[in-house]
Formats: sequence, C-alpha cells, structure tokens
Amino acid sequence: MSTLYISHPACLDHQTPLGHPERPDRIRAIERALEKERFTSLVRDQAPMAEMDSLTLAHPESYVVRLRDISPREGLVRIDEDTVMSPGTYEAALRAAGGAVKAVDEVMSGHVANAFVAMRPPGHHAERVRAMGFCFFNNAAIAARHAQKKHGAGRVAIFDWDVHHGNGTQDIFWSDASVLYCSTHEAPLYPGTGAASETGEHNNIVNAPLNAGDGTEAFREAVETAILPRIDAFAPDLIIISAGFDAHWRDPLASLNLTETDFAWATQKLMDLADRHCGRRIVSVLEGGYDLDGLAKSTAFHLDALMGREMHT
Ligand SMILES: [Zn+2]
Repeated sequence: MSTLYISHPACLDHQTPLGHPERPDRIRAIERALEKERFTSLVRDQAPMAEMDSLTLAHPESYVVRLRDISPREGLVRIDEDTVMSPGTYEAALRAAGGAVKAVDEVMSGHVANAFVAMRPPGHHAERVRAMGFCFFNNAAIAARHAQKKHGAGRVAIFDWDVHHGNGTQDIFWSDASVLYCSTHEAPLYPGTGAASETGEHNNIVNAPLNAGDGTEAFREAVETAILPRIDAFAPDLIIISAGFDAHWRDPLASLNLTETDFAWATQKLMDLADRHCGRRIVSVLEGGYDLDGLAKSTAFHLDALMGREMHT
C-alpha cells in the first residue's frame, strides 16, 4: 500500500512580510528534499479548495465569510501581530483545508495506506472563531470531523507534536468526546495554553508539556507514558498527526532539541497503533517548522516512516 503526498503551488502565494518565519520557502525546501530517488514511489496529488461544507465542520460560516471578505486585493492585511493575509492567502488556506479533506477521503476509502499534506498556512492555532499564530482554518480539525461525517469514523485521535500547543484544535474538541486530542509542546511558550491540567470536558484532551532544552529522551518518555497509552485505550478509527517540525533542535522559534530521527520514531509508534486499531489509517498535516534544513530533513524522515521504512528510528 502506498503513501499519498498532497500539496499545491497556490500555497506559495500566501505571502508574509519579509523576515516572517512562516514563508513559501518552507514548502520549496520540502519539495526539494522529496526529489530524492527514494521518494519516487510516493503517490502525488494536488490539494483542491475546501467547500464551505467542510470548513463549517470546525468554524461557523460567518467566520469563513469574514475571512473571505477581509482578504486583500493587494498588499497585506494584518489579523494579529504575526498572522497576515495577502491576496493569495484565502485560496491557499482553502487548499490547505481541502488537501486535508482529500487525504482523509483517500485514506478512509483505502486507496492509500496513509497521507501527508504539505500545505501552508498551517492550522492548529486556528480556533472556532479566531485566526491566530499564522493559522486561519484548522486543517486537522476539519479532517477529523470530515472522517466522522463522510466516512463514519466514530473516534478520531489527533497527535500534535508541533513545538507550540495547538490551542485551536483543543478549543474545537474541548467538549467532543469522539475526538482525543494529544499534544507535546514546549512550555512556557506561545500561545500559553496546554497545561497538563487542561483535560477537556470528557477527559479527551491530553497535554504533555516539555521544558525548554528537553530533547530526545524527555520527548520519547512523554510520548510513551502520557500519549501512546491514551491513544491505544481510545482505539481510534483514524489517527491524524498535526506534524509541526519546529521542535527540531535547529528551529529558531523554540528551544526543544529533537532530531529528525525522533519524528521518524514517533511516526513509527503511531503506525503500530494504527495497525492495531484502524487498518493502518493515518493522515498527517504539516503545521510549523521554520528552519528550512531541519524542516526538510524531518519531513523526509517522517515520510520514510509513513512509507514503511524503519531504518531511521
Ligand atoms: Zn509551531
């Protein structure tokens, strides 16, 4: 069974101000890394624009319309201190969400074993009614709800290993017992949420904060003790990964010291759980990752693992 890789050139048209870490070169760096011989067997496809029906799985229609209406014809519109819309942003955001929806369709229908969506803007900081932290639509949340609504997935587990806490995903699923949201992240750090005491209305939120300076050992221990047993007990019908690679030691925005090997290891652990519970179904969506070299290597190791290669862990 193959691994699907989804992207779209429109995500390069989401422009951010000079010096902004969330920039088009991130996707270019990933694409360059995937030109290597060992990735020729990836099934590649383009991300379609998400329909309103999909976006409203995680956001009210009024929020979507407001974003569309403030979308600039030229220049940049600032949503908050670090979240900016350019003329290409709205379409890029629609395709980032649409790519996640398509990945779910292909994985849930059994056409591919698993999928990785390399799109921007990222999504995990986007709350139901608030764009923030470089994010507009919550791609992972939309993917989870789409799997439930269109494909009958009862329970969906999300593991978010981005170095920042996914406050948006937590917000959306806070009262939803059918989704288990698990996060490792550095704390204290933006956006300030993600304490271990935040557990959701149905004990369906699992936060495992790490300290600045933590690396391989602390990360793997947190994953093995706090997160994997919870996903195992939840017995999900689909596993979604919010795959941010900014916990990499090279990343300029945070101070965890993971290596690309740690992401391959975590991917492998989730694949073991997916094997046991949900016919190996995994959908992974890109979140952060701002050092181009760290991002490219980490993505390549993540894909190696998704493609069933175990040599890195
Ligand atoms: Zn991040």
